[in-house]
Amino acid sequence: MQSMQSKLPQVGTTIFTVMSKMAAEHGAINLSQGFPDFDCPDRLRELVSEHLNGRKNQYPPMAGILPLREEIAAKVHALYGAQVCPENEVTVTSGATEALFDAIQATVGVGDEVILFDPAYDCYDPAIRLAGATPVRLPLSLPDYSIDFEALARAITPRTRMVMINSPHNPCGSVLSAEDLDKLAEAIRGHAIVVLSDEVYEHMVFDEQSHASVLGHDELREKSFAVFSFGKTYHATGWKLAYCVAPPSFTAEFRKVHQFVTFTSVSFLQYALADYMNECPQHATELASFYQAKRDRFCELLAPSRFRFMPSAGTYFQLADYSAISDEDDMTFVTRLTREQCLLISLMTPLKRRSPNRASFASVSAKKTQRSKAPRRFYVPCSRHPSCLRC
Ligand code: PMP
Repeated sequence: MQSMQSKLPQVGTTIFTVMSKMAAEHGAINLSQGFPDFDCPDRLRELVSEHLNGRKNQYPPMAGILPLREEIAAKVHALYGAQVCPENEVTVTSGATEALFDAIQATVGVGDEVILFDPAYDCYDPAIRLAGATPVRLPLSLPDYSIDFEALARAITPRTRMVMINSPHNPCGSVLSAEDLDKLAEAIRGHAIVVLSDEVYEHMVFDEQSHASVLGHDELREKSFAVFSFGKTYHATGWKLAYCVAPPSFTAEFRKVHQFVTFTSVSFLQYALADYMNECPQHATELASFYQAKRDRFCELLAPSRFRFMPSAGTYFQLADYSAISDEDDMTFVTRLTREQCLLISLMTPLKRRSPNRASFASVSAKKTQRSKAPRRFYVPCSRHPSCLRC
């Protein structure tokens, strides 16, 4: 049989399957995955059925149905003050994963460098490599997982074509402030660098802070692809629907890729989302307090344990340091927790370079930095069964 030359030699089989199987075997509670254990709103499901039965079942337009793009533009204006054109600045995609992939393929190629920050969400690196470009990974700074903007400025070379940011951050739960965006703008000013901003958790920012979107930053808005997710916002991660907002010339290139990756995204879901955004604009803006209450409850339950943590500033993940509990490496620890405590957590490791495995065990997600002195940590989606931490 002819051997296959791998385009992604460092990407192995994920350990997620192994861990999920182990969790099932031990009846462990799974806090490792970033999705809610409750359903999307009833009204939204009603609208889905209406449009499915109303024969909205053929190809929608390549960029997404116009009513949905109009709702997105209205929301972007209301939240971030940016006027975006639904015709040529908004594109609906099949998940944020697709939007990130399209933006990378549209922008970078062989010889280009893309700066990203560790730990980074796992789909960034392979998308950069598939485009033929080189990922340049800078560590986020402990203890608060912030960006070292001086290190960023030093890492920029004539080959740097893109900087990827993620706020609120998965898995760290950190958020970028408006001042951070100013520093980013300053670092890339004068360079031909595009920003790819992953903002899928835009509505999950806690403690009276507001989300700082690149769309609300005059300078960055002109040089950014901003990616958002309906899945996260409407508790419907399985729909894999998202969108990208970018200036017209960026959007034109983005769509050249999108049209040959998926061409378009599920029709009746788009109609349902357009109606629901119009009927219930408060759904999105109430999410912060909704998830903050879950975070607070979760942290309250975690407090008496030997896990050490700073409450998450955003997303639905909570990092916690388990070094006071065990000297084990994170994989051994999560495996033992799954077996003995029926708690499934996933490792931070797979979100790092050369880390092919993701370990999920029934309640918590453990994530490890590869720096030898870094604390051992795990993260937990606040939405899921916090009582398991009593185990
Ligand atoms: N970016 C981040 C930071 C995420 O956490 C996720 C989902 N876990 C995605 C992108 C991908 O989102 P989607 O499911 O819409 O492709």
